[in-house]
Amino acid sequence: MPDIHIYGGGMSGLTAALLLEEKNLDYQLYETQSHWGGKLQTTHQEGFALDHGFQVIQSAYPAMDLYHKRGYMNDALAFGSGAWLLSQGKKTLLADPLREFPKGLAALGHPSIKLTDVWHVAKLRNQLLQQSPESFFQSGNVTTLQYLQQQGFSPSFIEAFFKPFFTGIFLEEALNTPCSMFQFVFWALAKGKACLLPGGIQTLPNRIVAQLNPQKLHLNVPGTKASNNPVPQTHFSTQAHYFAVDSDLGLGKFIGLNASNSGAINLMAIPSAVQSGYAPGGKHLLCVSVKPSVSHPNSQATPDQIRFEAEQLLGTQIHGHWLNSFTVPQALPADTNYQYGCAVGDGVGESDADLREFHATGSVANPSLNAAILNGISFVSSINCR
Ligand SMILES: Cc1cc2nc3c(=O)[nH]c(=O)nc-3n(C[C@H](O)[C@H](O)[C@H](O)COP(=O)(O)OP(=O)(O)OC[C@H]3O[C@@H](n4cnc5c(N)ncnc54)[C@H](O)[C@@H]3O)c2cc1C
Repeated sequence: MPDIHIYGGGMSGLTAALLLEEKNLDYQLYETQSHWGGKLQTTHQEGFALDHGFQVIQSAYPAMDLYHKRGYMNDALAFGSGAWLLSQGKKTLLADPLREFPKGLAALGHPSIKLTDVWHVAKLRNQLLQQSPESFFQSGNVTTLQYLQQQGFSPSFIEAFFKPFFTGIFLEEALNTPCSMFQFVFWALAKGKACLLPGGIQTLPNRIVAQLNPQKLHLNVPGTKASNNPVPQTHFSTQAHYFAVDSDLGLGKFIGLNASNSGAINLMAIPSAVQSGYAPGGKHLLCVSVKPSVSHPNSQATPDQIRFEAEQLLGTQIHGHWLNSFTVPQALPADTNYQYGCAVGDGVGESDADLREFHATGSVANPSLNAAILNGISFVSSINCR
């Protein structure tokens, strides 16, 4: 049987390679860039782990089972279940009252949060937890914003919480993303946790690569013929600024959202408060993710301006220095089909030769790690079917 050729060393291609390796099937894995992991990239600098864009791993994603079973997530640690709402130097914790009792009750004092909003969150949580992830992707064309309005959330709660929180996930501010994606992510957050691995987001692909035969791995390979996958044409971008700081700035393990409806910052987090290895001893790492509308390489926001705005939001001075900033212009495809998973054989062409090729050059089902992993699993299943 001739070798199987995989093009693309992101989570989709690496998942396929791992499964083929475990089945003792011959394959070659080609990646155009000089690193494995695709969108999961980390730069190590001065002892800090700087992910290219703020990113977490949802432990409850069904496809992550593949990696839970292999122990790759055993040392993952989680952010708190909730977020700080930051506005004009004041912060209020909006936490899951079931998981973060009694901290979760503090939110009731916030002017943007009504008792009915807390009730609707609990109702939505229960409703979605009773459904299967696949069922969310049959919701039609309703946008996330329309869906939230239909659920009865107050406009002030949508502005202060859902907008900044899901802008950080969808990388678009209008919440025009189909509500299927919202339901899926909300379900995953309710069922599991938002996790970080030691040493950065790239640790997950690195752990896969460590199991693969190095002779089958090829980096820096120039782009091959046109992919059989429909390549996404439009993308959402993101930008993260990193600062070395002396303390966790009072954020601890919770993400801080810009709830003020103004400014360039979308959210802030201290990854080192979750995984200490994100920063060297005695230091913390501050990650400031800016709004997608200002996340372009020519962005006017300088690190000093970002620091100033962060200080205004937090109501405290940030002692420390700027480390680096990363813009990811093609962070998420904006034009996927928003299906749960790929059909068996997606990414595989029609001819006999194509049957041995997998074009794992970007998720096509929906813009998530779950879809990327499922894509790799589907390809290997399609080989078994032939
Ligand atoms: C900042 C950020 C935050 C995110 N947050 C989340 C999140 O919270 N939850 C979530 O589920 N998902 C999130 N995602 C999305 C998730 O990371 C991606 O959906 C997933 O990693 C995509 O994996 P992939 O293998 O399909 O594609 P990619 O990671 O894009 O990998 C494709 C690879 O193919 C290579 N390639 C392209 N063309 C060729 C060719 N012709 N030959 C060989 N190689 C080629 C590319 O160089 C790339 O390495 C986030 C992404 C970013 C950037």
